[in-house]
Formats: sequence, C-alpha cells, structure tokens
Amino acid sequence: MSQQPNVLLLGPPGAGKGTQSANVADEYDIPHVTTGDALRANKDMETEHGTPRSFMEAGELVPDPVVNEIVAEALGDEGYVLDGYPRNEEQVAYLADITTLDAVCLLSVSESELVDRLTGRRVCDECGANYHVEFDQPAEEGVCDECGGELIQREDDTEDTVRERLRVYHETTEPVVEHYREAGVLQEIDGEQAPDAVWDDLRATIDETV
Ligand code: ADP
Ligand code: AMP
Repeated sequence: MSQQPNVLLLGPPGAGKGTQSANVADEYDIPHVTTGDALRANKDMETEHGTPRSFMEAGELVPDPVVNEIVAEALGDEGYVLDGYPRNEEQVAYLADITTLDAVCLLSVSESELVDRLTGRRVCDECGANYHVEFDQPAEEGVCDECGGELIQREDDTEDTVRERLRVYHETTEPVVEHYREAGVLQEIDGEQAPDAVWDDLRATIDETV
C-alpha cells in the first residue's frame, strides 16, 4: 500500500462499525471519523436547524448541513476510516465531491442480533470504547479497560429508539448501500461472526482492495 487508505465502513446501527473502526485506525495508522461521536460531543450546539440532541434522542437523522460540515472538517489527506456517514443519498453526493474512497465495506448482521447488540451496548464516557453486557464485558463491571472511565448506556440504545433507528436505516440508508453496490465497489463482510473473525475478513478485504 503506497499511502494511507480512505476506508468507508457501512452497516446498520449495531453492526460493529465502531468496534471494527478502532482496529482499522490502529492497523493503518489513520483517524477514525465518526459523525455519531462528533454529534454526541456537540449535542447542544445551536445551529439554524436546532440542536442535534432532539433528532438523536428520537432516533432521526440530524439535518445534512450540520453533518456535512463535520465531515468536511474531519477528512484530511492522510487517510481515514469513516463510520456513520453517508446515511442518505444527499450525503453520498456531498462525500463524492470532497474525497475519493479506496475501500467501501459493508458489515452485514441480522435484525434480531442488532437489537440484542444495541440494547446491551455500553460505552466509555471518557474515551468512547465499546463494550457489551454479554458479548464483550470489561474486566471490572462498569469500568473501561482502556482508560478507567465509567461505562454508560447511550440514551438512544433503548429498545423503542433502537427500532426507530433501524426503520430509518432501512428507509434512508439502505439506498446508500445499493448506490455503492451498483457502482461495483461494495465489499460485503459477514458481521455476525465473532469480532476477531470479522476483523480478519475486514483487514483481508481492505488489503486486497487498496
Ligand atoms: P455500530 O458502531 O455499528 O453501531 P458497535 O461497534 O458500537 O456498532 O457495536 C454494537 C454493540 O455490539 C457493542 O456493544 C459491541 O461491543 C457489540 N459488538 C460489536 N461487534 C460484535 C460482534 N462481532 N459480535 C458480538 N457483539 C459485537
Ligand atoms: P451512530 O453513533 O452512528 O449510531 O449515530 C447516532 C445518531 O447520530 C443517529 O441516530 C443520528 O441521529 C445522528 N447521526 C450520526 N451520523 C449521522 C449522519 N451521517 N446523518 C444524520 N444524522 C447522523
């Protein structure tokens, strides 16, 4: 690989994008750009469209101008792994104007597994590391292995909001997946395997593609 890759990770909420993005960022020494984390850090930011909080707590998409600006500022020219964007066709068009993707990878996971993963997810309040009450427990309950921070449940990881986020994914973000499939650049990975097996497949796919 001659330079650091521009990687896009697609998949429904709970597919493991954040978990695997951490591996991609480490392996290729590139930043993890995630609109979800950026918006959570700026939930009460006043914009002409209101604050992100109300959209996020309802499981709806935050308006495009707010999210596009976050991405435009975050993508540098030394590679990245992008997670959580683009989520609709307008965002696809915006992204195509500002960068070129080297690898587009979809993590596929069944709906019932997604609900279990999201409602059991716990995240570090300090560093954002992901855990699961059953599938990926920390050494000490409620405490982050990486930084000692407190593990919390995201406000949008309740069952009702999870169902709404999955509905929005099917309606608005699946066409994004189809866009890249029709363009012939989509690489599909079985995201339902254990995290290490997903990572083996994802790394091999990126290495073959870029
Ligand atoms: P996303 O960023 O796509 O929403 P996450 O990476 O946050 O998804 O993963 C959602 C939840 O599922 C987290 O609690 C994480 O620990 C867990 N998880 C991630 N990958 C796997 C996997 N391969 N098998 C089981 N659980 C997983
Ligand atoms: P995530 O962390 O990717 O699950 O995103 C959490 C929430 O942030 C979503 O339910 C949306 O409300 C908002 N969000 C994240 N990324 C985007 C995006 N690309 N477009 C619009 N809203 C987004």
